[in-house]
Amino acid sequence: LFAPIALAPRDPILGITEAFNADPNPNRINLGVGVYVGDDGRVPLLECVKRAETLLLEGSQPLTYLPIDGLQAYDKAASSLVFGADSPAIAEGRVVAVQTLGGTGGLRLGADLLRGFTPAKRVWISDPSWENHRALFENAGFTVETYPYSRERGRELDFAGMVGCLSGLPAGDVVILHACCHNPTGLDLTPEQWAEVIEVVKARGLVPFLDIAYQGFAEGLDPDAAPVRAFAAAGVSMLVSSSFSKSLSLYGERVGALSVVTSDSAEATRVLSQLKRLVRTNYSSPPSHGAKIASAVLGSPELRALWDEELTGMRTRIRSMREALAEKLTALVDGEDFSFITRQRGMFSYSGLPQLVIARLREEHSIYALDSGRICVAALNSRNIDTVANAIAGCLKT
Ligand code: PMP
Repeated sequence: LFAPIALAPRDPILGITEAFNADPNPNRINLGVGVYVGDDGRVPLLECVKRAETLLLEGSQPLTYLPIDGLQAYDKAASSLVFGADSPAIAEGRVVAVQTLGGTGGLRLGADLLRGFTPAKRVWISDPSWENHRALFENAGFTVETYPYSRERGRELDFAGMVGCLSGLPAGDVVILHACCHNPTGLDLTPEQWAEVIEVVKARGLVPFLDIAYQGFAEGLDPDAAPVRAFAAAGVSMLVSSSFSKSLSLYGERVGALSVVTSDSAEATRVLSQLKRLVRTNYSSPPSHGAKIASAVLGSPELRALWDEELTGMRTRIRSMREALAEKLTALVDGEDFSFITRQRGMFSYSGLPQLVIARLREEHSIYALDSGRICVAALNSRNIDTVANAIAGCLKT
């Protein structure tokens, strides 16, 4: 039965982690990961999460099933976090929100909705994009194409290329847009550029599907969601996949949401009924623990304020690592401008380092980054940043 099955390609990111784990060098450094680590090199357990968990334990509720579309308080909190507490679309009953298995689950559920219930057949992702976008939409039955996104070896945004491509697309094609902290480049659009994209998407009749996996890591919770809100204000039907994996450091709990903005509340009811059917026939209902934590944090003014503070701490630390890396590399490497590192946002920097340099960093210095040149700036800390800067400079010079 299974004999004809070919071996699937290895996940490029997990492959790096495997190689890192197998490296006996005690000073090895993993810049390939997509998680935030603190200055101590560990994934933080946020204080707001710890307190929410304590409250949950004290309340000791039975571990029953959640509704098919998830914890209702969570769904409400998750969609108002992206659309804003005063969102007209939410007030008009046009937004449907479903708890999903992380942001990935939100993307897949949205893909299944579009493929199963709309004429959409083609999805456009940025070049480059998060590795999983292509495979996820292809597996859901879409043809996946790319629109230009970066130039200068990934160090600058190719906005003209992006808009030029989107302007030529036929109505009904789906466009995946990273709302903030683009993965892998760290290059985001300005508000003016977003306004232009929204105009094109609207004029061409494209279907925007926004992916917001790093809300709070660029400027803050509200400003980072501005593109989502601008799309909603433009009155287009759209999908949004959001995630608390990074922002609440809840990776393994799989806490995400799919929000769908529809034309009216009757349409919203029909869309929700089909989303529930998709969930029911797939995994029946989502897990409860992470959603309870997230809704406890979002539902309490004190915990919410604490979260904002902790998120600011993570964002500020990443920014200071960006500044330090750019400064050190500029001092060490003659004639190269590394200021692009400070203009990129979120956890990643598309370093523009050639694959040969990435390979040498791995082989000669036990520093692991993706072959594409993506490095996780959030994995830098006060103890490893000099080692990394010196190793990069050394590899670039010789
Ligand atoms: N979208 C993007 C752009 C991402 O980088 C990620 C996480 N690496 C996700 C979605 C999915 O996140 P989650 O872990 O919540 O599924």
